[in-house]
Amino acid sequence: MAGVDLVLRSTRVVTPGGTRAATVTVADGKITGVLPHDAAPPSVPVRDLGEDALLPGLVDTHVHVNDPGRSEWEGFASATRAAAAGGVTTLVDMPLNSVPPTTTVEHLERKRAAARRGVYVDVGFWGGAVPDNTDQLRALHRAGVFGFKSFLSPSGVEEFPELSPTELETAARELTGFGGVLIVHAEDPQLLQGAPQRAGRRYADFLASRPRAAENAAIERLLEVAGRLGTRIHILHLSSADALPLIAAAQRAGVRVTAETCPHFLTLTAEEVPDGATEFKCCPPIREAANQDALWEGLADGTLECVVSDHSPCTPELKRPDTGDFATAWGGISSLQLGLPAVWTEARRRGRGLADVARWMSGGPAALAGLDHKGAIEVGRDADFTVLAPEQTFTVDPAELHHRNPITAYAGRTLHGVVRSTWLRGREIAAAGAVHPEPAGRLLERRPGPPTASR
Ligand SMILES: [Zn+2]
Repeated sequence: MAGVDLVLRSTRVVTPGGTRAATVTVADGKITGVLPHDAAPPSVPVRDLGEDALLPGLVDTHVHVNDPGRSEWEGFASATRAAAAGGVTTLVDMPLNSVPPTTTVEHLERKRAAARRGVYVDVGFWGGAVPDNTDQLRALHRAGVFGFKSFLSPSGVEEFPELSPTELETAARELTGFGGVLIVHAEDPQLLQGAPQRAGRRYADFLASRPRAAENAAIERLLEVAGRLGTRIHILHLSSADALPLIAAAQRAGVRVTAETCPHFLTLTAEEVPDGATEFKCCPPIREAANQDALWEGLADGTLECVVSDHSPCTPELKRPDTGDFATAWGGISSLQLGLPAVWTEARRRGRGLADVARWMSGGPAALAGLDHKGAIEVGRDADFTVLAPEQTFTVDPAELHHRNPITAYAGRTLHGVVRSTWLRGREIAAAGAVHPEPAGRLLERRPGPPTASR
């Protein structure tokens, strides 16, 4: 056992084989052993975590860092500090709302340059597929993006236009040619346009403007394309549980499709959103409690494989606190630092375990991005860990968030699960909410070869 440089011991180590008492050894940033709890330690002092749970570091594949170009909304330093404090050790940045968006290799390099100023967790990048960049997709894939994001309806920013049905087909064919993953914001533009559009402070009006039918129809179209062309497609931030049977049927039929949902869809309900509370606005929207129950069933039966934040912040003014108008407020919920306790609080209430949460928030997203060296406490993987006190509670105080703009739909909520510390490749990068001043994160690239995702 030469060269071990870290030993962590806990009565609750969350491994792919279940949660058990164990001692984990680390050397050179990799996990080298998952041993019995009472294993005689090597020469290194043992860090005994007692009853605190040792989870794999979370992998959040849906984060809008907005840097460069809209760094007043977020930024690589603030986003990755929030990630570290919240137990997230890897994040993958969305290709919009930075300026420029990640739609060419040159733009990707500008993002990487911004990130090289310092990141506190590991960071990778999604590319974007927009109407005029089909000839860029292969080069972006070679340059290391993990896949390509597209919209079928307006994205909210003009520099990232949506794909028409013909353009979707073109992009899907191109990606299929080199094995790229297409990740999609699925809402049908016609059905959105046809929905009642009533501005104002009433959440019910906003909800009616983004109906489930728009999501269901868009997903149906994507499943058809994936089935016909063989494209690997991933559905982002699923809100409408009506689409679950469609997705499950496609998966059974061998269509290469996966789907994710988000902490806010699993923990917040339309019924409880106060009128004018635009910090709850996102697209697709938070729906009714019965819809939320069905999303949990989708996780339980494996139709949904990932729970990721869709952290999409903006400046306070853009949330229009002056008017509380849902129609004009920026859509996006900030939860990068809070995703783990938010999901765990609801998961434990529903009788789910920490192993489920680790699978949804670490293993599943790591598989989506082909990060086979992340996502589990297993020999050979990176020594990325989150130490969680699962039974301890805290009340969300926005002032304690590292997000650049600490506005959050979770303010004032009491949550279960306090992140005690976060470890990246065997280094403690955050403890008790404080982030180590030295940025130890690395920039990640897609690993060559086919993605390891199960579908
Ligand atoms: Zn998003």
